[in-house]
Amino acid sequence: MSFTVAFHTLGCKLNFAETSTIGEQFLQRGFSIVDYSEKADVYVINTCTVTEHADKECRQVVRRALRNNPDAFVVVTGCYAQLQPEVISKIDGVDAVLGSSEKFNLFNYIENFQKKELSCIYVSPTEELNFFNSSHSTIADDRTRAFFKVQDGCDYKCTFCTIPLARGKSRSMNPDEVIQQFQELLSHGYKEIVLTGVNVGDYSALLNHNLDLNPDHDQEQDHEQEQIQEIDLYRLLKMMLEIEGDYRIRVSSIEPNLLNEEVLNLAANDSRLAKHFHIPLQSGSYKVLRLMQRRYNTDDYKKLIYMLVDKIEDVGIGVDVIVGFPGETEEDFLDTYNFLRDLPISYLHVFTYSERPNTKSIQMPGKVDVIERKRRNNMLRILSEKKRNEFYRRMIGKELTVLFEHENMDGFMKGFSSNYVRVKNPFIKEYINKFVKVKIREVDENICTGELIENVSLIKM
Ligand code: SF4
Repeated sequence: MSFTVAFHTLGCKLNFAETSTIGEQFLQRGFSIVDYSEKADVYVINTCTVTEHADKECRQVVRRALRNNPDAFVVVTGCYAQLQPEVISKIDGVDAVLGSSEKFNLFNYIENFQKKELSCIYVSPTEELNFFNSSHSTIADDRTRAFFKVQDGCDYKCTFCTIPLARGKSRSMNPDEVIQQFQELLSHGYKEIVLTGVNVGDYSALLNHNLDLNPDHDQEQDHEQEQIQEIDLYRLLKMMLEIEGDYRIRVSSIEPNLLNEEVLNLAANDSRLAKHFHIPLQSGSYKVLRLMQRRYNTDDYKKLIYMLVDKIEDVGIGVDVIVGFPGETEEDFLDTYNFLRDLPISYLHVFTYSERPNTKSIQMPGKVDVIERKRRNNMLRILSEKKRNEFYRRMIGKELTVLFEHENMDGFMKGFSSNYVRVKNPFIKEYINKFVKVKIREVDENICTGELIENVSLIKM
């Protein structure tokens, strides 16, 4: 009988991609993966530090594991484990705490999964988080979309953020390796590859290639010179799009100061690059952006959004925003509200500011009352719904290329268009994991339905 392992992931797409990689290692050692609600021999919890109540959440998830099997070996890893290993090690039932780098070499640290009296901590200091550990995953079992990590860490110093402490300096996957893994994902049948990272726009790596300088190439007089080229996100996307195939690439989230015109032109001209960008704003107040130490102001952001709309027809634009940052007055909040209301964006991800140890912002004056933070959050959520609904309604009568992802769910299949419109239609097996042209007919709450026109191919002619 093989041993079983169950995973629980908190936080971002990156964490989900990394959990998949850890899962692969268990599979290679003969473990079977079971659902977290089932009895398992080992439970691995991949934590996040952005979650508002990381500690509470972590305790709850450990308790759930032990309810399923009191003798299970419990491993806690991820960003929260990197930042607060001592705190986690004191949670009843935790056997091992692994940091951001150690989680990729779990079997080097844990030889047998025998329950311990005291938990062990294996966490490297942040300044030693220099190695790039590759990861990719799917959100569905039907192998439609894969999250592919090409970058990790961050060199920015946003005053509210603990991610640079939890994940270390910015580093990127070698471009040759990106291409090789990208091709592997395509060969496994994935149709949409979502490029992820902590700060994907900061992708930067060197590519070595041998240039043949002799036009009349002759084996005897072979004359090659090594050339090193710096590859940024635009060049990486170009290299990926040179690979033939019926696929779509989506960039998960990109800082506004790093989204340049070259990338926009690429998305405008190549249907295999999604016409959808998720661009964190965080605040629409000039003053608060400065307090946050963001690298742009509201004018830069506005210019970027209008450039996007101008270049890419029906582009989908998502925005991250934080409410209740220290010093955010009612007037500052209204600046944010009005700024977002007037921008041609499609939806918001709203976060409520919460105090995190080791951040600059925790020392800042002007704390916003927690109830007030919630009120502001609510207002922006309502605005987000309005924005999404307006955007979806604008799609009525248009033909969108949808990738249907899910297997039969209550008789329906669901998927996303290039510009990130959710579409639902009665289930037809032949359309699953295919790009399908759909004429949008109606919007029902947060989902569109339409008329299926035909299967299409995105292969570039
Ligand atoms: S860009 Fe700012 S918010 Fe994003 S990970 Fe880096 S420090 Fe954190």
